[in-house]
Amino acid sequence: MNERDSEAVAAQLVARGYTLAPSEETADVVLLNTCSVRDLAEQKALNKMKSLAGVANAQRRAPVFGFMGCMAQSRGQKLIDELPDVDLVLGTQKFHRAAEYLDEILSGGREKIVDVAEEKDSEAAIREHLLNGSAKKSVSAFVSIMQGCNQYCTFCIVPYTRGEERSRGIADIVAECRELVSRGVREITLLGQIVTSYGKRDIPARDGKSAFVQILDAVHEIDGLDRIRFTSPHPKGYGDDLIDAYARLPKLCESAHIPIQSGSDRILKLMHRGYTREKFLGIIKKLRAARPEIGISTDIIVGFPGETEEDFEQTMSLAREVEFDQAYIFKYSPRRDTPAADMPDQIPQREREKRNEVLLNTVNEIAARKYENFVGWHTQILVEGPSRKNSARMTGRTRCNKIVVFDGGERHFGQIMDVRITRAGSFTLYGDPAILNLS
Ligand code: SAH
Repeated sequence: MNERDSEAVAAQLVARGYTLAPSEETADVVLLNTCSVRDLAEQKALNKMKSLAGVANAQRRAPVFGFMGCMAQSRGQKLIDELPDVDLVLGTQKFHRAAEYLDEILSGGREKIVDVAEEKDSEAAIREHLLNGSAKKSVSAFVSIMQGCNQYCTFCIVPYTRGEERSRGIADIVAECRELVSRGVREITLLGQIVTSYGKRDIPARDGKSAFVQILDAVHEIDGLDRIRFTSPHPKGYGDDLIDAYARLPKLCESAHIPIQSGSDRILKLMHRGYTREKFLGIIKKLRAARPEIGISTDIIVGFPGETEEDFEQTMSLAREVEFDQAYIFKYSPRRDTPAADMPDQIPQREREKRNEVLLNTVNEIAARKYENFVGWHTQILVEGPSRKNSARMTGRTRCNKIVVFDGGERHFGQIMDVRITRAGSFTLYGDPAILNLS
């Protein structure tokens, strides 16, 4: 979501005549988009800004420096007070104002600008895409369909930095998707903090279909679009209408990133997640019945306040039971003004680290085995571009969201092709299109 917000701001600036700088050291404007979900992310952004300002000062340059996104929202003016090189602080409902504020600062009209107010309809303002502009070509695009979150998980800062849930209209979203497809996009990922809560308050259910399934249906109808994904859902969003969508809609990729956070019902309750372990396992079972080859990933927090060895063991056993294709493990990080930060029995940092390591080893072992099982399979990939690690190779993604690297060239860009998997690496598969062509 943050990457998508950054892309929209960059595209907005390009449309206004700015060009993307080749490096941050030579740029006239540097905007850092920030995440507040964990303290580490905030510290990284602050350090990055300090180091950029240091380099600029040493070079006797004075670029415009700005913070945007969640940390900008929650810290506001304080960022400028503490880091005097910062000129612009842009909150989460203000991304679309970047160009106009930069114009004001660059023309000398205003020196410093802080805007972290709420703004009606800002959820529909994240719509520009770079795609084939001066940046990289893209066959896969992200479309933000809603902003904000109403879940108020006790550990999470997002409802305070992103505000209330606000959803765009179906026609508006479909128009953006159509435009992307007309520019060569073949895969679209619909985005929202809890994307499955899309339109809950504004769009009534129809024929037993939630607003979210209605938007899936509407996007599915777009000719020329081959693949649909979405992230991040919440387990509460997996009603039978969504399970049924997986069975019904061939463009909906068989992959799901469903954050579980903990395998212990006691902790899930303290987290205010609104589901039980059993409910979650039931969803996984139904999804696998609808699409046996579905790839399932998750987010898990270890060391939430009050998490006992027994609770942690419940998470371990859930991970073993589900066998996730990938799991992102986070050490609990207390966030200001969230209820969990004041809960008793905070877990010592060393214990959080230990649990993180133990769980990570288990989930990675399981994932490695799953990746290994792909060797010898034929699978379909959408080719996204040169491999990041080795630009002489190309990279694509399977429908179940696994990265496949193969020897190929620019001519493969944007193609949907079959490859035979020859080898598995760490969260990467290696494939060979040639073998299939010969056989
Ligand atoms: N609504 C998004 C949340 C993005 S944050 C989503 O559901 O994906 C991504 C992950 O960060 C969360 O799923 C959670 O596992 C983790 N996270 C959030 N707050 C955290 C905290 N205070 N400490 C540690 N991890 C946290």
